Amino acid sequence: MIPIAMPLLAEDEADAARAAVLSGWVSQGPQVSAFERDFAVLVGAEHACAVSNCTTALHLALTALDIGAGDEVITASHSFIASANCIRYCGATPVFVDIDPDTYNIDPVKVAEAITPRTRAIIAIHQMGMPCDLAALGALANRHGVVLIEDAACAAGSQIRINGEWDRIGRPHGAIACFSFHPRKVITTGEGGMLTTADAELDRKFRLLRQHGMSVPDTVRHGSPKVIFEDYVVVGFNYRMTDIQASIGRKQLERLPELVSRRRALASRYTELLGNIEGLHLPFEPDWARSNWQSYCVRLPGRVEQRTVMQKLLDQGIATRRGIMCSHREAPYAGTVCLHDLRQSELAQDHAILLPLYAQMTEDDQVQVATALRAELGC
Ligand SMILES: *Cc1c(COP(=O)(O)O)cnc(C)c1O
Repeated sequence: MIPIAMPLLAEDEADAARAAVLSGWVSQGPQVSAFERDFAVLVGAEHACAVSNCTTALHLALTALDIGAGDEVITASHSFIASANCIRYCGATPVFVDIDPDTYNIDPVKVAEAITPRTRAIIAIHQMGMPCDLAALGALANRHGVVLIEDAACAAGSQIRINGEWDRIGRPHGAIACFSFHPRKVITTGEGGMLTTADAELDRKFRLLRQHGMSVPDTVRHGSPKVIFEDYVVVGFNYRMTDIQASIGRKQLERLPELVSRRRALASRYTELLGNIEGLHLPFEPDWARSNWQSYCVRLPGRVEQRTVMQKLLDQGIATRRGIMCSHREAPYAGTVCLHDLRQSELAQDHAILLPLYAQMTEDDQVQVATALRAELGC
């Protein structure tokens, strides 16, 4: 069986988790702080704040910006549903715009058309790890006085060239970037998330909000020789990461550069193996982007049926997934008025499939996937 994905977790992570357990401090504590420092250094961010997952990171980002009822937030429908749900958690209105069919990322021209006086923020997704056009989106956000938030759930280790320099995603290039460490992403802590920002005040708010609005963290009280009484200054949440997760995350971060180069090699190999198939659309990487290839997505020729191809591959022991979902087609968003055409989003969901890609994948596995796909497409 060739699975769609597989995390790379080994003795290093197991040893780190064991050490955290035996340390006696298992909730948010010193390992979380160390993971935040390591992550900030790796992506070149001033501040990094760890949380329970990327959905809660996105919720905190919008909450810290005081986004709420009456506000509009522009994002892609063509994304995991968390990108839209976080907007609804705040009582704000998601405004969906279409994607560029080559990169599966939000189209800056469509974003510009969707801006209204109520627009407060843009949530730009680096879909499947492919950096979106941050130069265009950043300029647009500045011009209209709206905040750019990066949903970088899939993009740990991806890079973008901005002003002639290669930067890691997460520096961030908007106001805030949000990451996920779910096992389906390139590095994992089981569940986990991270917010990065250059704004010290936003970082302070994230730290307050992730811990019930508590004025003094328990780590500080624990270490204090004096009795300290804490206050609860805002309505916050429990969005903490645990020290067990963070200790695993630190080991995963050490692997990240190697994992990304391995995935990039696997992606180019797919591109070689799948070249010259009539009507098969291979993924496109702009020359200013270096994806971590969280997923390798191909769009099938119009003549073949997505489900049939996927089933035929599954019958041969090869797992695939259909194209990224569209939130506007799901029940919670059924009533959403989509003023903007989402045709490319729907076509991508209905005609794309994601192929298996993980660090442990062998040359034989890849050849098997490519051969099976070629056979299904009649070449
Ligand atoms: C996975 C994912 C999320 C949610 O991440 P969690 O850590 O599972 O909450 C959000 N946005 C996108 C684009 C994702 O792929």
